[in-house]
Amino acid sequence: MQAHHFDKRGGSLIINEEKLSRALEHARPHIGEGRVASYIPELSKADANDLGICVHTIDGQRCRFGDWERRFTIQSISKVINLAVALEHSGADAVFKRIRMEPSGAAFNSMQRISDNEDVPFNPMVNAGAITVCDLLLPLGIEKMIEISQKLCMDEDITLNEEVFESEWANSARNHSLAYLLQSKGVVRGNVEEVLRLYTQMCSLNVTAESLASLALLLANGGVHPETGRRILEEDVVKTVVTVMLTCGMYDGSGEFAVRVGLPSKSGVGGGILSVVPGEMGIGVYGPSLDEKGNSIAGQKALEFLSHHERLHILDRCADGRKTF
Ligand code: GLU
Repeated sequence: MQAHHFDKRGGSLIINEEKLSRALEHARPHIGEGRVASYIPELSKADANDLGICVHTIDGQRCRFGDWERRFTIQSISKVINLAVALEHSGADAVFKRIRMEPSGAAFNSMQRISDNEDVPFNPMVNAGAITVCDLLLPLGIEKMIEISQKLCMDEDITLNEEVFESEWANSARNHSLAYLLQSKGVVRGNVEEVLRLYTQMCSLNVTAESLASLALLLANGGVHPETGRRILEEDVVKTVVTVMLTCGMYDGSGEFAVRVGLPSKSGVGGGILSVVPGEMGIGVYGPSLDEKGNSIAGQKALEFLSHHERLHILDRCADGRKTF
């Protein structure tokens, strides 16, 4: 496949509906290869055929296509918000004393790797790590965390989806086991039920592909909102969060996704993917049909298509290097 040359407007990419529609049409035939999540019963009500995308660029372009307005639960993409807030409030030392920064190579809810000889979770993007992050966030509480999420995603309509929360809470034996195991190792120190409640509530926030694109744009711009010029997150925090997303954001599919798409991203079992194009744009995708790893199957295909055709891969610069001296 020959990559197209990308158009530039004032130094940045031009994105239009046609490009987004082509990406979705390329991805749509893959929907049937996946399945909607059902281990949280309420999630199985999603329409597997939904597919939407939203792009916000640093120079103010806003482009949407398909089911970009559909509300769905953020699920694991909340791990990005949780980590950013914990880094801002508690500092990197406190966070990384309790959680490592290594890809686990295991499923999102794996207990395997926190075995007897591993005392701390592998990274903040898998459940064990994110539950530990929520231990640090406990003093803030869910109301404050919703307020912060609304601000980071530029979306005042983000609310807690009570049905999804109750459904997950009633089926959270696995996460309970993880949390109590972490408590037994002294990693989770607060009240385990409260920590887990906060973790699960954060997974149950209602977002759209556009809310994800806004958050991705903020990260792409180093924590400063390009419209207002206001700093919302510290530069170091953004750099850390985005790096962890690149290495760990797509669960045990992170390596392949980095090769194929090459964008720091985070997926959730609700069907969302948030992708950061550093210095250029934020992308939000929604497609609830998931692969066996829990990543949106068509969402990944749409991102791969866009990355290839618009030359968004963060290491495309290596491919461009034909200099001699
Ligand atoms: N709430 C889900 C869980 O903890 C999030 C998983 C995900 O999105 O990957 O199982």
